[in-house]
Amino acid sequence: MTVLNPRIEINLAKIESNTKEIVELANNRGIDIWAVTKGVAADLKVAKAMLLGGVIGLADSRMRNLIKLKELKCPLMLLRIPMLSEVDKVVEIVDISLNSELEVVKRLNQVAKDKDKVHKIILMVDLGDRREGILPEDLFEIAKEIKDLSNIEIIGLGTNLACFRGILPNEDNMTQLMDLVNNIREELEIELPIISAGNSSSLPLLLDLKHTSVTNQLRVGETILLGREVPSGEKFELTSLATFKLIAELIELKDKPTASKGEQGNDAFGQKQKIVDKGIRKRGILGIGRQDIIPEGLFPVSKKMTIEGASSDHLIVDLTDVEDIKLGDEIEFRLSYGALLGAMTSPYVNKEYYYTEEE
Ligand SMILES: *Cc1c(COP(=O)(O)O)cnc(C)c1O
Repeated sequence: MTVLNPRIEINLAKIESNTKEIVELANNRGIDIWAVTKGVAADLKVAKAMLLGGVIGLADSRMRNLIKLKELKCPLMLLRIPMLSEVDKVVEIVDISLNSELEVVKRLNQVAKDKDKVHKIILMVDLGDRREGILPEDLFEIAKEIKDLSNIEIIGLGTNLACFRGILPNEDNMTQLMDLVNNIREELEIELPIISAGNSSSLPLLLDLKHTSVTNQLRVGETILLGREVPSGEKFELTSLATFKLIAELIELKDKPTASKGEQGNDAFGQKQKIVDKGIRKRGILGIGRQDIIPEGLFPVSKKMTIEGASSDHLIVDLTDVEDIKLGDEIEFRLSYGALLGAMTSPYVNKEYYYTEEE
């Protein structure tokens, strides 16, 4: 078999079992899980594994990804508030979209009317993370206007936490959300069955048996895909980290001085590198670079090597403490969410799928 490097190995069994664990935990608390596929550019095999794990639908931030997911014939949700220029596709392709702009919702209504459809939306509220969302004080008026639109159904309220400013779900913001929901239910007589108040960062709260949740829907990507808690990055109790492995090949291996020679300007990405002279070290270059991954988001499986830096096509590693290594060897890494996003999006990184219970 010819191997194509760099490559990312994807263990579909682990993605399925991570999904199962999270779905079970959430269902026991009355919460539905939507799996978020944007971290893998909506890779269809990964998406299928998530569906086998029991999620009720798939959610993605990009229409191109959702168009691809359409062939899986499951409920689809658009996570990023729609661009005015894509409302046609949104109504055609997805079942539910998240929204915060009245003007966009009015356009969605127009398109839905033309297509003789009812489009479902979740209104996003900004409870302090300061990414998308209607400010709480403006919510009621906007909901009231939307209620009169013929082809739009508000099915719930949602919020995003831990995204832009890293504000975490807590008693305060969840109570505030519940008050907003109750107000709209009572005053506007909109049923609002869905309270979609979170992502991976909400999962640790569910482990606490005393926790009572106002949320009945979570949109989860990172903890399913990488098995890690957000934002700590520690392994989540119920999930496995053995989902993805990135493999790159050693294309140069030499003992080299660590001090550089010549006058120093900026590197290829406009940064001035700090040079630490550690004498002569065993340096390796791997055939992968910033066009494929975020070097800061790669974690060597072997604790004996360190990443020194990267340019667009080269990753420089220190291999001084690694024994028995030779040109052509493969080096394995675990990935951060950002590095995974890059690797799965890059056409230069080969995707290899397998199915094993092994860690
Ligand atoms: C990306 C995203 C999520 C998923 O977040 P994770 O931290 O990966 O679980 C949920 N909701 C929205 C709106 C998103 O954009």
